[in-house]
Amino acid sequence: MNYIMVIDDSPTIRTSVAFTVKDLGCEIKQAENGADALEKISAIRSEGNDVSLCIVDVNMPVMDGISFVKEFKKNDKFTPVLMLTTESEEDKIKEGKTAGAAGWMIKPFKPDNLKSVVEKLMV
Ligand SMILES: [Mg+2]
Repeated sequence: MNYIMVIDDSPTIRTSVAFTVKDLGCEIKQAENGADALEKISAIRSEGNDVSLCIVDVNMPVMDGISFVKEFKKNDKFTPVLMLTTESEEDKIKEGKTAGAAGWMIKPFKPDNLKSVVEKLMV
């Protein structure tokens, strides 16, 4: 079983992202910050399953999106990470790319755009 991780401190955004990518053949797992996501990813992998893609917010308490990408990429160079940023976070996009993010999307996003970017990244 493969999972898409949806990582955002806003339950509303998590729900809308999860809904948008629900038909791409993966299970969806939600996490509310980077640390929560790392724990859930390690639980998924210890059960013999895997993660196909992470969609991650930048601003979150406990562990933000940039720190998550850095930590996640230490052990996994291949699984793509898509960052969700706001218009005002352009410097974060650069930082995220350097840390290994495969792409980004500016919030608010159009569901069709998000879905097609995710589909491309998972090929
Ligand atoms: Mg946030």
